[in-house]
Amino acid sequence: MIAPNMNRLALYLHIPFCSSKCGYCDFNSYEGLDHLVPDYTPAILSEIELWGAAATKHEVHTIFFGGGTPSLTDISDIEAIISAVKKNYSLTDDIEWSLEANPTELTLNHLQDLRKAGINRLSMGVQSLQTDELKLLDRDHSPERVFEAFADARSAGFENINLDLMFGLPDQTLETWQDTLERTVSMGPEHLSCYALTVEPGTALYYQVEKGFIAEPDPDIAADQYEWTQKKLDQHGYSHYEISNWAKPSKECLHNLTYWQAQPYLGMGAGAHSFFAGQRFANIEAPNRYIDAVGATKIQRMEEGKSTMQQVAAGETPNRNTILADAMILGLRLLKGINEINFEMEYGVKPSELYAEQIEKHVNLGLLTRDGNWIKLTPNGLLLSNEVFIDLLPEENEALSTAQEQLLA
Ligand code: SF4
Repeated sequence: MIAPNMNRLALYLHIPFCSSKCGYCDFNSYEGLDHLVPDYTPAILSEIELWGAAATKHEVHTIFFGGGTPSLTDISDIEAIISAVKKNYSLTDDIEWSLEANPTELTLNHLQDLRKAGINRLSMGVQSLQTDELKLLDRDHSPERVFEAFADARSAGFENINLDLMFGLPDQTLETWQDTLERTVSMGPEHLSCYALTVEPGTALYYQVEKGFIAEPDPDIAADQYEWTQKKLDQHGYSHYEISNWAKPSKECLHNLTYWQAQPYLGMGAGAHSFFAGQRFANIEAPNRYIDAVGATKIQRMEEGKSTMQQVAAGETPNRNTILADAMILGLRLLKGINEINFEMEYGVKPSELYAEQIEKHVNLGLLTRDGNWIKLTPNGLLLSNEVFIDLLPEENEALSTAQEQLLA
């Protein structure tokens, strides 16, 4: 529970190191930078402390170790980061501590250590249970390793596990996707994230598709896979609560709900994004430059008693139109949609007044629907959500802000 007079806050901690770079990945993650790890943990510890002084009126209710591959991090570093968070922030009693993990390095010992350190939600990158699809994605684990890691996570005491899967892969059929999803469900995870592959420019996969070495994903097959997923997971008792996310009762990801509800979060680590004190900003992406910049901020704080956050590379104070558009786009990602009354209480205006034309247009196109005080995406709208979101962007934004590009991703 959040204490009275305190605002809630989510923390995101970015660990950018991976054992190898997956061909489809455009995250801020790197292979071959292990030599930076000894300096990276002290830098993130310093950043946790630096921001703590600015968040004294906030109570942290979720913390998410994302990457990269946080499960590669030594347990002593994870423990040090957890201690620093506890020392520098007020935390709620029922805090969610999530950690992203790859099956490869999840030994029983490591899982037991993570659980003992306080991690209470594990998010495992499975992506597929087909050997050829895992190879195409450059994943370094086998289907069998996923089952072993999941069983070990249960033995270690993890009662809240998410598994990430990908559909819409080149040459993936409806049948192979059905097989992957059915066998994943048979493990009984509390949460499932099922993302359609997007072939991002700049990735190795993009190059291979461009050159014709790999077939382009077929959007019609991806749509069939998505619709089948909705039916199947509903039969298995998972609630579809966000475009790409399903959960057993009360097992929604509290951290990601913070983003979709446009609530504040502080991101720490290389390239991490924040929405805090009405501002959006992002850290320097390159881990070595991030480490140096945090060091410079810390020295300035020691010498002058105050400092500018030199690790922050870019920021903006979003104007009201942008804030409203962000709240609409993020809120519509949730299956329950946006409540007109709650939105008016928070922002002083009803969506049906502010976006009357756009809502009317997409209701007529069958992508949005009204249900009492709620406005939400229809089943077709879930497949074509970007068509709706683009129309909600403020007109003065000729170029999309980074934050909005993320919202549409
Ligand atoms: S493990 Fe995750 S973060 Fe690392 S390269 Fe693969 S997809 Fe990207």
